[in-house]
Amino acid sequence: MKKTVLGLAVTAVVALTGCQNTASTTTPVAAEQVQPSFSEFSNNFIEALWKNSPEWSQYAGYGKYDHILTVPDAANRQKQIAFAKAQLALLQQFDVNSLSTSDKIDYYLVENLLEKTLWSINEFKSWQWNPSNYNVAGGFAKIINGRFESDDEKVAKVLKKLENVPAYYQAAKNNIDTPTLEFTQLAIGQNKGALSVLNDKLGEKAAKSNLSDADKALFSKRLDLAVAAINEYINYLSQLEKQLVADGNARSFRIGEALYEQKFAFDIQSGYSAKEMNAKAIADKDRVFAEMIKITDKLWPKYFANKAKPQSDRDAVAGLINHLAKKHVKRDDFVDEIKAQIPDLEKFIVEKDLITLDAEKPLVVRETPEYMRGFAGASISAPGPYDKKENTYYNVTPLDNMTDEQAESYLREYNHWILQILNIHEAIPGHYTQLVYSNESPSLIKSILGNGAMIEGWAVYTERMMLEEGYGDFEPEMWLMYYKWNLRVICNTILDYGIQVNNMTKEEGLDLLMNQAFQERTEAEGKWRRATLSQVQLTSYYSGYREIYDHREAQKKKLGNDFDLKQFHETFLSYGSAPVKYVKQLMQ
Ligand code: ZN
Ligand code: ZN
Repeated sequence: MKKTVLGLAVTAVVALTGCQNTASTTTPVAAEQVQPSFSEFSNNFIEALWKNSPEWSQYAGYGKYDHILTVPDAANRQKQIAFAKAQLALLQQFDVNSLSTSDKIDYYLVENLLEKTLWSINEFKSWQWNPSNYNVAGGFAKIINGRFESDDEKVAKVLKKLENVPAYYQAAKNNIDTPTLEFTQLAIGQNKGALSVLNDKLGEKAAKSNLSDADKALFSKRLDLAVAAINEYINYLSQLEKQLVADGNARSFRIGEALYEQKFAFDIQSGYSAKEMNAKAIADKDRVFAEMIKITDKLWPKYFANKAKPQSDRDAVAGLINHLAKKHVKRDDFVDEIKAQIPDLEKFIVEKDLITLDAEKPLVVRETPEYMRGFAGASISAPGPYDKKENTYYNVTPLDNMTDEQAESYLREYNHWILQILNIHEAIPGHYTQLVYSNESPSLIKSILGNGAMIEGWAVYTERMMLEEGYGDFEPEMWLMYYKWNLRVICNTILDYGIQVNNMTKEEGLDLLMNQAFQERTEAEGKWRRATLSQVQLTSYYSGYREIYDHREAQKKKLGNDFDLKQFHETFLSYGSAPVKYVKQLMQ
C-alpha cells in the first residue's frame, strides 16, 4: 500500500479487467454441504479476484498473473459481470449480523467492490468515454522495473504479455463512443509515453536473453506489432480529437449529479451524501476564512509595525502568509529537519497521552530511493499485502535537482510551520501510526480494499487534533498556516462538486482556489485540470476528515466526562482501514 506524494492522493485502482481463460473458480455451496467459514470465503474470493483481474493482482504484488494482458472487450465485460454476481451470491449466504466485527467490515468492503463493478460496467461506462483507460505501459513497466527478477525472467514474462497488445487496442477502439475531449487528449499523451516503455532497449534485452532463437524472433515480431498497435491507437485518437473539436460534440467531462452521488457512495462509502458533504465544505471554508482574518488582525502589528493593513481581508491574509513563508529551513537541511522532528512529535504524543505508539515498530526516515523519485516531497511506503516483512519508510526527497528558484518556492510552501503539519500528516500520528494499528487487525481484504477516505481523513484529522491539544503552543502563526493548508483540502471538495455537478466555470474555479484559498496560479491551473480528469477522488481527504471529526464530537457529547481522547483514537483505529460510517456503527 502506497500513500501519498504531497497533494496527490491514493487512488484505489479498481481494474475492471480479467484474464481470458478463467473458468469459474467458485464452487456453489450445495444444500447438504456445510457453509464455508467467512475466512474460507475471503481466501477463495481473493484468489478468484486475482485470477479474474490479473492486472490488479500485478499491482498488489501477487505475482502469478503478471504475464497476462486482458483484452477489454465485450466478452470480458460479460465475464466481469458474471464474476461479480456469482461472488455476491456467495457473500450473501452469510448473515452479516452473525459475523465478527472484523469480518463484518470485510463483508461490506467486498459487497461494495462487487456492486461497484456492476455499476461501473452498466451505468458509469467510462469504458466508453475515457480513452485513457486503455494503456498497456503500466503492466510492462512494472515487470521491467521489478527489483527481484533477472532479465531472463522478465523477458519471458514480457514475451507472453505482448501477445494480446494488438487485440487490446482493437477492443479499445471498438469500445470508445463519444469520449470527453480531455480524456482523449490525456490518452494521446499517455500512450505516447507507452512507447518509451516498449522501446528498442527492450528489444535488445530480449536479444541478449536466454530465450531460444525462435522465441527471440517471436519477441521481436510481437514487439513490432505492439508498437504498431499503440501508434495506430494514437493516430485514431488524434483523428477523433480533431473531429470532436470540429463537430463540438464531445461528451462533457462533467458527470452530473446522479452519477456523482453514486460514485461518491461507492468510492467514499460515507454516511453523508455528496451534496451534504459539499454543504459542509462550504460552511467550513467560511468559518476557516473568518478565523484567518481574526489571526491576521492580531498578528499584523507584530510583523508590519509601520505598514497599514490592506483594506481587503483577503489581501491582508495573503500578505501575512507570504511574509511568514520566508521562515523555512535551508534547502540542504530539508531531510535532516524532518528526521529531527519525528522524535519531537513522539514526545508530545506521549506527554499528552493521545495514543499509544508501538515502540517496536519505529518509523524509518530515509531519502527517497532514486527509482521512486520524480516528485519532490514526502511519502510513506508501506509494505504491500504480499511483502509484509519490509519496513515502513518515510521517504523524503532532497531538493538536489531543483534550481534555486524552484527550491525557494518549494521551501516557502513547506515553510517552518507547514513542514511540521506535513510530518503530522505523513508520519506521526498520521499515516504511519494509522498503518501500525491497521496491521494489528490484519485481513487481506482490508489491506486490498481499505478505504482511502478513512486513511486520508485520519491523517487530516490528526493535523487539527495535534494543534487543538497544544502542539506548537497555540502559536497563532501555526494556526494561520494550518488553516491555509486545511483550506486546500476543503476547496478541493467544493471544486470537485462544483465542476462535476454545478457547472462551475474555469474562471469560478480559479477564483475559488486563488482568491479564496490563497493558491498560486500554477497550482490552481493544475488542480482545475485534475478536476476535469477525475471525479470524487478530490473529495476523499475532506470527506474522511469531516466524518471522523463529527463522529468524535458526537462521542464527546454523548459520553460527557467519560469521553477519553486516547481511548477514542485507539478504538477508532482498531477496525483497520474501514470506511468511517462502519466504524461509527461499530463504536456505538
Ligand atoms: Zn527563502
Ligand atoms: Zn495523506
